[in-house]
Amino acid sequence: MKIAVFPGSFDPITIGHVDIVKRSIPLFDKIIIAIGVNTQKKYLFSLEQRTQWIKEVFKNYPTIEVSSYMGLTINYCKEIGADYLLRGIRSASDFEYEKTIAHLNHSMESGIETILMLSPPEYSSISSTIVREIILGKGDVSKFVPKEIVESMAVI
Ligand code: ADP
Repeated sequence: MKIAVFPGSFDPITIGHVDIVKRSIPLFDKIIIAIGVNTQKKYLFSLEQRTQWIKEVFKNYPTIEVSSYMGLTINYCKEIGADYLLRGIRSASDFEYEKTIAHLNHSMESGIETILMLSPPEYSSISSTIVREIILGKGDVSKFVPKEIVESMAVI
């Protein structure tokens, strides 16, 4: 079974994340969207809220699962028997960062392959950070987050 973990904070999930996951569906038997929980980090949305949104977006996709984990991503991959770690790349700086992490991960756990997928140009400037800024500034994020969660966001 080809199982991939797509790790991230997803605070909140954006159409950029959704694009990467949907384009990866044909490559894997199962993709686990895994929310990394870092106790040092402050999030805008609760883990429950972020999980619920991702579940809503992918409810009609049987090979997509949502979960959360603490600690190193590669340890989580090993724990659940995933051989692939999926990440999205928007820019050269994303690439440099992901390359470093992928090399580190490979030196710790050579059995897990990092798969990097490029975002299309129209999504390359979308990030959860920007979406959070817009939300805090009371702006409209409906162009950047999946339509399934726009309404639920508006009531928060
Ligand atoms: P992290 O805090 O680990 O960076 P994110 O939730 O911000 O978590 O991102 C998770 C993954 O999704 C990362 O690989 C990131 O590069 C990718 N990603 C984020 N936004 C986009 C986008 N607009 N297009 C493609 N990939 C993206």
